[in-house]
Amino acid sequence: MCGIVGYVGERKAAPILLSGLSKLEYRGYDSAGIAVYEKDRLQVIKTKGRLKALSDMIDGGKNMSSTMGIGHTRWATHGEPNDINSHPHLSQSSEIAVVHNGIIENYISLKEFLVEKGVKFLSETDTEVIAQLIEYNYRGDIVEAVMETLKDLKGSYALGVISRHNPEMFIAARKDSPLIIGAGKNENFIASDIPAILEYTRDIYILEDKEVAVLTKDSIKIYNEYGQMVNKKIFHVDWDVDAAEKGGFEHFMMKEIFEEPKVVKDTFNSRINGDLLKQDSLSFTAEQLNKIEKIFIVACGTAYHAGIVGKYLIEDLSGIPVETDVASEFRYRNPIINEKCLTIIISQSGETIDTLFALREAKSRGSKILSIVNVVGSSIARESDSVIYTLAGPEIAVASTKAYNTQLAALYTIALDFANKKNRINSEELKEKINTLKEIPGQIEKVLEKREGIQKFAANHYNAKSVFFIGRGLDYALAMEGSLKLKEISYIHSEAYAGGELKHGTIALIEKGTLVLCSVTQDALIEKMVSNIREVKSRGAVVMAITQEKNKLVESVADTVINIPDISSMFAPLTAATVMQLFAYYMSVLKGCDVDKPRNLAKSVTVE
Ligand code: GLU
Repeated sequence: MCGIVGYVGERKAAPILLSGLSKLEYRGYDSAGIAVYEKDRLQVIKTKGRLKALSDMIDGGKNMSSTMGIGHTRWATHGEPNDINSHPHLSQSSEIAVVHNGIIENYISLKEFLVEKGVKFLSETDTEVIAQLIEYNYRGDIVEAVMETLKDLKGSYALGVISRHNPEMFIAARKDSPLIIGAGKNENFIASDIPAILEYTRDIYILEDKEVAVLTKDSIKIYNEYGQMVNKKIFHVDWDVDAAEKGGFEHFMMKEIFEEPKVVKDTFNSRINGDLLKQDSLSFTAEQLNKIEKIFIVACGTAYHAGIVGKYLIEDLSGIPVETDVASEFRYRNPIINEKCLTIIISQSGETIDTLFALREAKSRGSKILSIVNVVGSSIARESDSVIYTLAGPEIAVASTKAYNTQLAALYTIALDFANKKNRINSEELKEKINTLKEIPGQIEKVLEKREGIQKFAANHYNAKSVFFIGRGLDYALAMEGSLKLKEISYIHSEAYAGGELKHGTIALIEKGTLVLCSVTQDALIEKMVSNIREVKSRGAVVMAITQEKNKLVESVADTVINIPDISSMFAPLTAATVMQLFAYYMSVLKGCDVDKPRNLAKSVTVE
């Protein structure tokens, strides 16, 4: 959510800031701006709307000679998205400029304090208090003024600060919002995420909570909250900048769906060795696991839906009770959790703020933490006892696709590992299931070949006002994700229901022409689902069903059938998910929506 880029070096700063911000567009934003030190003063250019509008205002920045500056794409939390509320924010004397990601929870009391001292505010944002407070605390040393200010801030922040007094350096700080530092040659950077600066450097420092960094073109000094210098290890990025480009696809989302066979395979390979599960990445012994009485899976959005699949799998395979919860509920509901519990935390970015706080809540109550995370070195990864990295690579489209599939992949291996350690499956069964997992990437490829059928169905129905997704068991978990995907990117109202729950109310909404997507992949529940399809069809619904090729009964009742390869029920979500994603994609494209950057949404939700 929101993007920050900072540059100090020998090149022109403005074009670098604009290019860096463009790599962060995927995170979602509503306005953009930069501040540079130009002609002996701080110059701020900012506007509501797209980065292109900002770039046009300054002709791509090529006529600005400054070699130091900060840039920002804003996702408004306090004050509507307009020019004035856009970042950077200046202090009253225009000597200090600040970009901020996060929320300052006590900004009202700080603002009142400053107003009383005669400070005049221009915007409605919480951020402006930071710039004003730094100026208020300034006694000739800008680093000290920033440090002093941070002590008074409650809430979350990633910050970039520049000052007219020190045109050769800038300051960065973070607490509960992501920020990385890029170390270059005669130039240094800050950014919310790696793709923003990958073109310039692969050497990264990950700033920890409450740390402050002071950057000049040839030095990076990092301090802890007590002002003591900290030594950090460089983290070398080994993936390529191409991974964050569209590679010939019209949209990132489609490119990322097409990457699923590879990234699911990579994730399995990192967890499987021959016919066995690798043990190095998951450090729970059978003895430790036997002490676990309950598992919580906590996540948000798509990751939460992956967690529901995880619940079905882990309970079924290992016999350990599992509760799945959305992080924003879990952290405030006083969960009954202790040292006999394991909490599995799932987050693509590893920075999802509600999920991070849920992790801390569970940890403070004694639970062990196992996280499933895509971004190496992210906050959630660092604070967990054990981490499984999904190897999805950078996911740029706001709507998660390949990351979800790799989260599922990780959960299957966890469920099998726990089942094995609890002696719930024998080595033959384990081997057989691992071999089934290995076939999944090839089967996703087969699903991708079916995309024309899905596109055709979407072409006939993209004007739908409302779509229902139904399923039972694992198919219900999948239905939830299918529904979320559709509403996120096509803005069509949709709901997911357990097949058996329809007749307890929702069936009242089914009328002639209502679209119902049915996932029917669970052998033991096929007849029940066929009955549900009949129920909605007899009330006028148009049904598209997703099912294995062998299930001819489904073909006899649904209007359109999209077949997935014949795969055993337990593993079907790994391939059926791709059908749901393609359906949402085509509906969005046909409706002319902004597929990769849907309205109101942000990629990495770093505010509550
Ligand atoms: N809370 C700040 C604002 O509304 C920062 C939002 C952001 O993270 O983009 O301006």
